[in-house]
Amino acid sequence: MTVAYDNQNIFARILRGELPCTKVYEDDDILAFMDIMPRADGHTLVIPKMPARTLIDIQPETLSKLILATQKIAKAVKIAMRADGITVHQFNESAGGQVVPHIHFHVIPRFEDVELKGHTGKMADAAILAELAERIKAVV
Ligand code: 5GP
Repeated sequence: MTVAYDNQNIFARILRGELPCTKVYEDDDILAFMDIMPRADGHTLVIPKMPARTLIDIQPETLSKLILATQKIAKAVKIAMRADGITVHQFNESAGGQVVPHIHFHVIPRFEDVELKGHTGKMADAAILAELAERIKAVV
């Protein structure tokens, strides 16, 4: 059964400009912005502007643009954060760990011997997110 796209999900509202975000990159098809509850400094989300819930129901053409943008952001985050590696997460449906029902890739900088932080539910300081976004924007 196909589940309808929820126009009121948080990322749809960010795309419509109804909620703020700390933007890192934007083009006609893609928006990338800082995760508000980061699992590491520099944790960035990459989303398509076209509505799609999951990897299962996204149009292939939109998915192609999304994965290429994710690569672009991963390169920029790795350079900007001087990271040793990058973890990319993508969750589908609540059973698969998805909280926001608009498809997104998590781009998370990683460092040797540093564990990923858990989902603390703690919002990051807005000024710190803005500073990190500037660093990433400078190399994207
Ligand atoms: P997922 O759906 O893949 O489990 O994760 C959703 C992600 O979106 C979480 O990492 C969460 O911190 C992030 N998030 C939730 N609400 C907002 C928001 O309003 N703004 C931003 N920038 N990130 C959000």
